[in-house]
Amino acid sequence: MLGSVVPKTKLEVIETILAMYPHAHCELIHHNPTQLAIAVILSAQTTDQAVNRITPGLFAAFPTLQDLAHAPLEAIEFHLKSIGLYRAKAVNIQIFAQQVLTRHNGDLPSDFDALVKLAGVGRKTANVIQAVAFNLPALAVDTHVDRVAHRLHLVPLKADLLKTEQRLKRLIPKELWIHAHHAILFFGRYHCQARTPQCHTCPLYAECRFPKKEHFAKNNA
Ligand code: SF4
Repeated sequence: MLGSVVPKTKLEVIETILAMYPHAHCELIHHNPTQLAIAVILSAQTTDQAVNRITPGLFAAFPTLQDLAHAPLEAIEFHLKSIGLYRAKAVNIQIFAQQVLTRHNGDLPSDFDALVKLAGVGRKTANVIQAVAFNLPALAVDTHVDRVAHRLHLVPLKADLLKTEQRLKRLIPKELWIHAHHAILFFGRYHCQARTPQCHTCPLYAECRFPKKEHFAKNNA
């Protein structure tokens, strides 16, 4: 029988995921907060792997924010061509660099409200920056976290990204937010994938409300 006989509570579901991925971490290549921010901006609607293939070249070509802020746009685009929306992303990271220089003297702020005012930085990106670059309690909801939270009934079926973030923050102790974000993301990326979830080996099968779980459990067994 897959999963537990007595369904786990929502917190026990989270604890199971935390235990599965005790060392979950940010997989985007970066060496400082601004490189992290740029990598997260570039990761919109593409994979971390795709971003990691281009950022070493990008960071080598533009080692400082000044380099990025003053580069010809085509030179930035050249490094981003293999990822989706590269033209818009090139504009965003250049404006982002200019804004960090002019508004914050070149130091990326850790304040959420200041972060979301920067080009290309939305709620998810700001949360990732706070958590990964500044070790501040934050819980980013990306596509993986959102999918897992819904499949495992951690949030109401119709919860949007903001409601999902708020619900998870109420559910999870604050000191675990950073680890929970990474662990749930790993669970979604490596176990409960969008198209090929590993339902046949899932320790949370009983708690899952994904309508196709039986199908995937049978076909992968
Ligand atoms: Fe994901 Fe399948 Fe587990 Fe449900 S049973 S959480 S869909 S892997």
